[in-house]
Parts: sequence; C-alpha cells; structure tokens
Amino acid sequence: MATQEYVDLDRNTLGTDYIPSEPVEFWDANRQFLSAGVDGHERADQLRRQLALGSAIMHSVAEGMYAIDERGRITFVNPAAEALLGSREAELLGREAPAMMPLPDAQCTQILPGPALVEVLRSGLTYRSEHALFTRQDYSVFPVAYSAAPIITDGKVGGAVVAFHDLTEVQRLQRSQEEFLTLLSHDLRTPLAAILGHAQQIERLVEKPGLERVATGVEAILKSGRRLNRLIQDVLDRSRLEAGQALLRLEAVDLVAVLTLSIAENIPAQDRARLEVDAADELPMIADPIHIERVMVNLVTNALKYSQPGSPVVVRAFRTGQHAMVSVADQGVGIDADDVPRLFEKYYRARTAGATQGAGLGLYSSRLIVEAHGGRIWVQSEGGAGSTFWFSLPVSGP
Ligand code: ADP
Repeated sequence: MATQEYVDLDRNTLGTDYIPSEPVEFWDANRQFLSAGVDGHERADQLRRQLALGSAIMHSVAEGMYAIDERGRITFVNPAAEALLGSREAELLGREAPAMMPLPDAQCTQILPGPALVEVLRSGLTYRSEHALFTRQDYSVFPVAYSAAPIITDGKVGGAVVAFHDLTEVQRLQRSQEEFLTLLSHDLRTPLAAILGHAQQIERLVEKPGLERVATGVEAILKSGRRLNRLIQDVLDRSRLEAGQALLRLEAVDLVAVLTLSIAENIPAQDRARLEVDAADELPMIADPIHIERVMVNLVTNALKYSQPGSPVVVRAFRTGQHAMVSVADQGVGIDADDVPRLFEKYYRARTAGATQGAGLGLYSSRLIVEAHGGRIWVQSEGGAGSTFWFSLPVSGP
C-alpha cells in the first residue's frame, strides 16, 4: 500500500508546470527556487525529492500521523496511525476528524474553547497534550500524547497535522512500578518497626552518665529509622491518595495539640532547640491526626534540612475566618521562582536542594493529604532568602 501511494504522489507532481493546488507548508520552500529562475526540469526533480523525503518520513515514523484539511476532513493517514486507530487509510480519507478528536481532558492544563483541532484550525497555533484520550473507529478509547500543528500557506491555515503516540504501555508499566513499590514498602515496614521499637527501649536505658556515646549511636539509629519510616509511609500514602483510596480516619482534633505532639515525637532534641513555635490556644477541626502529623513533620523536617545547622525555624498556627493557617519559615537555601510551580509534584526537587538527600515525595504527599482534607498548601520563597511553607485547613465550630 505504501508503494502504491508513493507512485500516486509521483505521478501527480511530475508535470513541469505543476503548482500545488492544495497548499502545505513545505511547498513554500519550493517557491523560492520557482521564482529564482531554476529551470523546469530541475524544479520537478527537487519537488519529487522533497515529496519522496516527506513520504518516507511519514511512512517510517513510529508515531501515528494524520492530516486534515481546513474543514477538518482527513487527507492523509500514515501506517502507524492506521495501526493505532484500527482503520485503513482508505476508510478514513475524506471523513471528518471528530472520531479522532481528543476527548475532553480533565488533567489538561491548557483550556481551549472548542475541540482541540477546531481550535488549531481557527487560531493557527500548535497544540500539545500529554494527557489526552483518542477514540478508535470501534469507540474504544486509548491514552495518547499528541501535538496538532497548523499547515500555513500565505498566512492562512489550510489544515493541520496531528502526530500522536499511544501511552497504554507506558501507563501499564507505571502502574506495575507503583504496585511493586507499594508491596515493597509494606514488607519493609514490619522489620523497621521492630528496629525502631528496640532502639527506643535502648534510648531509655542509656540515659545514664558514662553511656553518652551509646546514646549518640542510638539517636542516630532512631533518626535514620524515622526518616526511612517517613519515606515508606510517603510511598504507601501516595499510591492510596492518588487512587482516591486514602482512608482518612476523621475525628475531632485540636490542630495545636497535633502540632505540639508531632514536634515532640518526631524531631530530635537538638533540632527542637532551633524551633520557635507560636500557636493559638486551640484550633478545633475534624481531621485525621496521623496524616496531619505527617504534613507537619514533612514541613518542619524540610525547613531544618534545607537551612544551616543552628539557624532558626519559626512555626506558626493561627486562625483566619473559617480556616486554620500553619506556616513553617526558615532562613535556608530558598527556592527559585521557576521551581515553585512544580514543587508539589511527584519526585520534583528544586535546584537549590543541591546535594541534600531527598526523594521529592514529602511535599507531594503533603499536598494530597491537605487537599483530601479540603485544604490548600503553598510556598513563598526566593532562592537564597529562606522559604515559608503554608497550609490551611477548614476549622470546625464558630
Ligand atoms: P525531599 O526533601 O525528600 O527531596 P520534598 O517533597 O519534601 O522532598 O521536597 C521537594 C523539594 O522541595 C526538595 O527536594 C527541595 O528542593 C524543596 N524544598 C522543600 N522544602 C524546602 C525548604 N524548606 N527550603 C528549600 N527547599 C525546600
């Protein structure tokens, strides 16, 4: 079939006076030598080579590609697109493209007033999406990343080319990776709980003069163990929260009490000395204290970790209207403005993190937890000038 089409293209363009009636962008380049006095024979030769090149590219790429005219009718479908869409080119030519239009996409950040292709034809702008769904002729749906670029000649949009690839396999691999991580995290938790439990017992036993070195060692075990515990918890929480399956054990709690306890139980004594806590008397709310504790610990641990040893970290908790606000401010490395919008994404680490260890999961989990409680989390920062992380949660009562 590919050979047949190549021949057709050749036959159409061999005439020496051939001027393409259906304008597409790369023919513009040929106008230059058309007007530069190149003789007819050479002109035809160049055109033929350009078309052969274009055709070879379209037929060899693994990406699905199709073209539409200015009315949205399909004018070309490459073999990869035929395979992905489950239809032969002959069945698709001349049809309107809506069957292949991306469905409305909840995760898409760019908001378009109409279906994406209509908008590309109208605006002449290229459109891309990493999170779209395409429908096949049999109405089955598959996830794709695609870009739709206008074909522009003489300043007018004469059609568009859509290039796409199927994300089914990528998403399947991501899911199995997540499942593996979740299983692994589960299995790691039991031995870790035993290590931490015994280390805590030893910590109590070595609070005697002469055993300071042992006490330092035990504290180091506890510190690393707790860090590992938080990481494991982050992995577990993240997959549950992402799947909307987080089991929030909601109860009436006082946020100030949760804050105080989180610090006392999770932050080592020498780090606690750096903290200045300024909190309201009481902030009653309905929340899951274990999860909220994890947000607090993540933010406070980060503030301590991403600033100079000994520099102060100020934690505030107060009420404005129907919301409790918590802020954690440090004087550390700060975050550059262009990293800020992505900071709460999975695995994202800011450039200012430098060599400081981390996995980029704490803030992501914290966001999922806060949002699951109907709250909001954000940051104010400038590189080198410290950071203030905030989160707000709805309070209960007047
Ligand atoms: P981790 O610290 O394990 O990398 P987080 O999700 O807790 O993961 O944080 C994501 C990134 O945000 C960090 O890698 C760091 O670049 C940045 N960050 C978080 N808290 C601070 C802070 N207080 N000061 C500067 N950068 C921070």
